[in-house]
Amino acid sequence: MKSIWAENIQRPKFETLKKDVKTDVLIIGGGIAGILCGYMLQKSGIDCVLVEADKICGGVTGNTTAKITLQHGLIYDKIIRKYGVDRAKMYLKAQQEAMDTYEKLCQKIDSDYKLQESYVYSCNSVYDIESELAAYEKIGLNANLLYDIPLPIKIKGALLVKNQAQFHPLKFCFSLAKELTIYENTKVIEVFKGGAITNRGKILAEKIIVATHFPFMNKYGGYFLKMYQHRSYVLALENTPLPNGMYVDADENGLSFREYNGKLLLGGGSHRTGKKGGNWNELRQFANINYPNFKEIAHWATQDCMTLDSMPYIGVYSRKIPNVYVATGFNKWGMTSSMAAAIILRDMINGRQNDCAEVFSPSRSVMHSQFAVNMAETLVNFITPTVPRCPHLGCALKYNKAEHSWDCPCHGSRFTKDGKLIENPATDDKRM
Ligand SMILES: Cc1cc2nc3c(=O)[nH]c(=O)nc-3n(C[C@H](O)[C@H](O)[C@H](O)COP(=O)(O)OP(=O)(O)OC[C@H]3O[C@@H](n4cnc5c(N)ncnc54)[C@H](O)[C@@H]3O)c2cc1C
Repeated sequence: MKSIWAENIQRPKFETLKKDVKTDVLIIGGGIAGILCGYMLQKSGIDCVLVEADKICGGVTGNTTAKITLQHGLIYDKIIRKYGVDRAKMYLKAQQEAMDTYEKLCQKIDSDYKLQESYVYSCNSVYDIESELAAYEKIGLNANLLYDIPLPIKIKGALLVKNQAQFHPLKFCFSLAKELTIYENTKVIEVFKGGAITNRGKILAEKIIVATHFPFMNKYGGYFLKMYQHRSYVLALENTPLPNGMYVDADENGLSFREYNGKLLLGGGSHRTGKKGGNWNELRQFANINYPNFKEIAHWATQDCMTLDSMPYIGVYSRKIPNVYVATGFNKWGMTSSMAAAIILRDMINGRQNDCAEVFSPSRSVMHSQFAVNMAETLVNFITPTVPRCPHLGCALKYNKAEHSWDCPCHGSRFTKDGKLIENPATDDKRM
């Protein structure tokens, strides 16, 4: 179950931490968020060390679909309704700066970067698409409204934004990583004031960035109540027509399409981790009907952290631990949002004002209906009297037949059939 990104690529290797070290900023986690934070900080003259529990980009980043776009589902209408136009403008500004930074960096990095048109469509409601268009007009984002797209699906409406991009996430991340001080197979066990303890030694640091996908310190910030994980499945197909552009259904359980190197990357089958959903079967059924000659080259799956208001948490981890920062909750839009995080955290750590930081503040209100859903989910699974249990907060695990894994419906930790930890926020193997 390897993504196409992991095929035929030379992975840079990094040593394991062998002795205690000291640095200005410690970055925990070697996915795209951690690597971009390290790169931006280092370019601003700050000494950093990045530690990765396993191999860099072995988590979500190695399994993404790598569309670089300002169109994050129907986000702008949502932000305007919840927070007003100014905040939607701030969100857009941060994402635009991220897009521009990719464009500049990719001129010198061989990462198959390619400008593409981006489409978000709805199969259910033209009203949702028109409302999003109205939001675009308020914040100054140009788009074309369409009622038909060149894909074998019936839509009610779509928005097309030009000059977006796609790339190869591993070629990009590995190239930046070569410039950083990284220790692989080095897992942070505990963070203390002024540093962290890993399974290989101690690291002293004035500041720390937690870029572990789902933050692992439960004591602060309440991230386990502010986020859940949503899992999606991808097929790489040959012998199909190739989409000229990148397409995403506005419904979080809908399909996504992009092309890479003569292959169609078809995403979907999504569900809350630990719940039932369509998985690869749904995608194969779609391919059988619409692309009868298709040849499946690869299939894989991954998941992302979903926040209460669909915007990431970027900034101080918790007011109780002021020198620790976080970049998480990318809601399946972690390419531009992790670049936005790297820019915002670089500015915060350098003591510079960043006008967009406020909109992503992790300490913003939790008064959203999703908070009650997350609480209820945790409660129900906590009192469900079955084994095995998740070592994170003790919820009952559910067996995922498609992937032969034990998955936690509360916060999305996952374990192999034999109980070995696959995905955080749990930090240990499962309890029987
Ligand atoms: C199916 C799918 C498709 C997607 N497609 C897109 C897309 O087209 N465009 C887009 O913008 N976004 C997309 N996303 C979202 C994007 O891929 C993610 O938001 C992003 O890759 C997350 O990166 P990350 O660095 O936060 O996490 P990761 O890549 O998971 O990195 C976190 C790292 O931290 C390490 N770690 C964890 N705990 C510790 C510890 N205690 N000590 C040390 N290291 C630790 C892990 O081993 C891991 O390597 C998609 C998501 C999904 C699920």
